[in-house]
Order: sequence, then structure tokens, then C-alpha cells
Amino acid sequence: MSMPERRLEPAALRTFIATALVGAGARQTDADAVATHLVDANLKGHDSHGAGRLPAYVDHARRELINLQASPRELTDTAVLIRVDADGGWGAPAAYALIDRAAAKARAHGLAAATIGNVHHLGRIGAYGEQAAAAGLVSMHFVNMTGEPPVVAPYRGSDARFGTNPVCISFPATQRRPAFLLDMATSQIALGKVRVAANKGLQVPAGSLIDRQGRPTTDPSGMARAEMEGALTPLGKHKGYGLAFACELLAGVLGGAGTIQPGNARKGVLQNSMFSVLVDPAAFGDTDWMQAETDAMAQYALASPPMDWDSPVLYPGDPERAIAGKRAKEGIPLDETTIGQLNAVAESLGLAERL
Ligand code: NAD
Repeated sequence: MSMPERRLEPAALRTFIATALVGAGARQTDADAVATHLVDANLKGHDSHGAGRLPAYVDHARRELINLQASPRELTDTAVLIRVDADGGWGAPAAYALIDRAAAKARAHGLAAATIGNVHHLGRIGAYGEQAAAAGLVSMHFVNMTGEPPVVAPYRGSDARFGTNPVCISFPATQRRPAFLLDMATSQIALGKVRVAANKGLQVPAGSLIDRQGRPTTDPSGMARAEMEGALTPLGKHKGYGLAFACELLAGVLGGAGTIQPGNARKGVLQNSMFSVLVDPAAFGDTDWMQAETDAMAQYALASPPMDWDSPVLYPGDPERAIAGKRAKEGIPLDETTIGQLNAVAESLGLAERL
């Protein structure tokens, strides 16, 4: 049985979210950036990072777990390096500003490295890869999370010690093909997907979950609540585990805000750190050749005869573009449970807006 849903117009949803965030005390510019980020995640098909996050975000704002008056500080600002302490503020506005600054440095000097820490949830990391790609730059992003208990077990471990630590790599569009965008959690499956399966009473794929005794399970019910039992497994065994660990080192250690190890206080609110590298392809050689070579490689890979003709080989970033095209026209489908939760947030803030 499928849950009833409605299609919402993206601009209307954006305004609703921004109004609620301002109602919760956010500055208008922060509210606009966060609302744009969340609705963009819905447009790209990543509903786990979309409007459904609003109730938690408003709750964090009201409990002063987000610094609503944050003024991000530059810890380092050299020709090719920028390190930011976001002063505990909202994720999206601070990260968009960071990537803008790093992009200017990369254009001037060929490459730039950037870190940001002490910041609320950064959301869909692909947004920052897209931002760099739109500026004509190559980018890499490594993210860890602190402030909440871990959810992913190390390879060969039997309990959670890591976040779902995402990695994103983007390459700008060519004349013929849109940007390459790989944006992925380092767990076998995303926590949001486990929660959806738990709510629907479904099983999860074998090998993606362990129970609280550390035994493999396909039953997601222990992960449904805030007090989680068991753990997600890392993507691709030791390889995803290694990538998740690299995120702790690059984002948490190099970034300066720390890792998920319990010596760092868990404030009860998810914070991210991100390490980003931006590269100007023009600094590395002939961009006409690079574009032609990118196109030739893409054409070669995508011409592999599919095992199933209904599921052809895709270019990373294509799934998001396909769904975004559809949702921009037809609206964003939200289930009535989520719509009810969003309306309840507006009501609790004394706002008249309803979806
Ligand atoms: P996913 O599995 O849906 O997609 C991963 C990547 O694979 C995307 O780049 C997509 O374009 C590509 N892809 C998907 N199907 C493909 C196919 N058939 N062929 C080629 N490429 C394909 O993503 P996910 O791992 O579930 O992550 C979901 C989102 O959650 C991401 O946006 C991530 O940034 C976000 N996230 C954020 C945090 C945080 O702390 N802020 C933590 C974890 C995840």
C-alpha cells in the first residue's frame, strides 16, 4: 500500500521553509540559503536531505543547538588555502560562501584547498560539487560528522564507530555533456533509506546492516528510532571503511574540528566538517583536449551493452538530472505524513502558512 502524496511547487515549498526558519529565529539570508538547499535536494531526488529535515532543523534552532547569529571566522586565508570556523551556524550558507571563496582562489592560482568545521548539517554534499562545476572547476569533498552517536561499523567491527561520511567528486560540463557528479555516502545504504524500510515494514538488502549483537540482519526495525540498535555496514567492505576513515582524517583532523571519537563532546546535534579541493582544469593543460577526452571516455563507458536493457549504463550525476527535470515540471512529491509534520512546525511557530 502506497502512502498518499501530493506534488508541491518548488518555489512555494522554498518560501514555506524559509518562512518557518525565520519564524524559528534564523536570519532571512540564512533561511533562504537553507530552504534553497533543502528544496534542491528534493528536486534532485534525495528526499532524505530535503524538506523532511525542517522539523529537526527548527527543533535545533529553538533549543539553541544552532548559533542563529553565527559569524564564520577565517582561521587561515592565504592565496590557495582557506580554513573556516563557522561559529556553530547553519550549514548551507557557510558552505556556499566557502566554495565561492575557494573557487576565486582556484581560478587565480590553479588550485585551492578549503576546510570548514563547527557547522550544522551541510546537507547534500553534491550541491557544493555542482557549485564548483558550474564555476568551471574540478572539485573533491570529504565530510565527517560529529555531535551525534555513530551509525556505521568499521569493516570487521560489530558496532557503530563512524558517520555515513560522504565523498563527492565533480568534473565540469563539456560542450556536449553535463557535469560529472559522484556524491555518495560511504555506508552500503543510507540511514534515511533504512528508516524508510523500517517504517514500511520492509527488509533491507543482505549485508547492509548488523544488529546490536553485531550479527548480520536484514531487519531494519532497530534503526527506526533515535536510540538506534545495531549499525550500518560500510560500502564495499574494507574499501568503503577506508574511505570513511579518510573522511575523519581529512575533514575532522585536518579541518581542525575533530573526529567522531568520544573524547569529543557529543552536543546532541549533527555537525559536519568538510575538506574540499578545487582545481582549475585550465591550469593543468589544454581544456579543449580535456573536454574531448572526457566525452570520448564517457561515450566509451556508456556504450557498454547493459545486462538489462531497461537499465542502461549512466554517467554519475545523470540520475539526479533526470529526476530534477521531471520534478521541476511536475512538482515535488511529498507524502501526507511529511506534509503534516511540516504544517505542524508552522503551527507551533504561530505561523499562518500551510502546505
Ligand atoms: P546515491 O546512492 O543515491 O548516489 C550516489 C551517486 O551515484 C550519485 O552521484 C549518483 O549520481 C550516482 N549514481 C546513482 N545511480 C547511478 C548509476 N546507475 N550509474 C551511475 N551513477 C549513478 O547516494 P547516497 O550514497 O544514498 O547519498 C545520498 C545523499 O546523502 C548524498 O547527496 C550525500 O551527500 C548525502 N549525505 C550527506 C551526509 C552529511 O552528513 N551531510 C551524510 C551522508 C550522505
